[in-house]
Amino acid sequence: MTAQIIDGKAFAGTLRERIATHVAHLKQQHGITPGLAVVLVGEDPASQIYVRSKGKQTLEAGMNSYEHKLSADTTEAELLALISQLNADPQVHGILVQLPLPEHLNEALVINAIDSAKDVDGFHISNAGLLATGQKAMVPCTPLGCLMLLREFCGNLSGQNAVVIGRSNIVGKPMAQLLLRDSCTVTIAHSKTRNLQEIVRGADIVVAAVGRPLFIQGEWIKPGATVIDVGINRIEQGDGSTRLVGDINFDAAKEIAGAITPVPGGVGPMTIACLLANTVTACCRMHSLPEPEGLSV
Ligand code: NAD
Repeated sequence: MTAQIIDGKAFAGTLRERIATHVAHLKQQHGITPGLAVVLVGEDPASQIYVRSKGKQTLEAGMNSYEHKLSADTTEAELLALISQLNADPQVHGILVQLPLPEHLNEALVINAIDSAKDVDGFHISNAGLLATGQKAMVPCTPLGCLMLLREFCGNLSGQNAVVIGRSNIVGKPMAQLLLRDSCTVTIAHSKTRNLQEIVRGADIVVAAVGRPLFIQGEWIKPGATVIDVGINRIEQGDGSTRLVGDINFDAAKEIAGAITPVPGGVGPMTIACLLANTVTACCRMHSLPEPEGLSV
């Protein structure tokens, strides 16, 4: 059996088109343009690429993009002052502080200073609490994208056995909460889990967010399972070049799974699309307008 390949790139493209349509509607019908502010502190090369890409896709969707680039020696007080200014700005509906921050800045303090209604990354403690208690929250973008793919490719998730491998605040924990909310029976595995292979064997849905290249073996997968690979790992090849791989041994797993996301081209493209979706959702909530279907959960 060869698995259906879940084309996250194509799905994200369709999602961005739907977002652009709704943005046009907000402008025409209500005179509102959703705006996303992205704050980058320092010069981490990977973060610079992410921020550039977020800004570009925000503009392509017809939204306003506000980039704030601060030097690596920015003080906590200066960063908090900028966040406070963005919180008060009615043109800004979403605020994202690119992580990781330089070591002298307290990440939790900074994230929790963002107005939770504008917290389009969904990392604010209020949003984590709302999600955990089944209330309307801003949902972290990567797990939101994974859930959209799962709903699209599996339909109703109710009663399915799901394992989430990884318990980070940005991927593993919110992913588990979302699956629970869709009535899956959820197991969260992590670095101290003893019988990972057996747990994966029993899962109808596997979400891997570990950060270890090709860690999950193909033969661990239950035949017909749906496999979502969040991992992004760069490995060296024999000829000195490098390539991106996920946490799942894709070549082996695709022979056993029912459906599987590739890396690249699976979960990755969904993350920024969901950031745009969250910005539109935040804008609609802020203006008490109906939320477009399919952009939030
Ligand atoms: P993290 O390092 O914060 O968490 C990794 C998790 O893996 C931890 O909870 C740890 O307990 C678990 N783990 C480590 N070793 C394990 C083992 N042997 N068995 C079981 N669990 C183990 O990482 P993160 O931020 O959650 O990211 C995970 C991966 O997802 C990384 O590769 C990251 O680059 C990728 N990622 C991708 C996107 C995207 O847009 N596609 C977004 C965020 C993260």
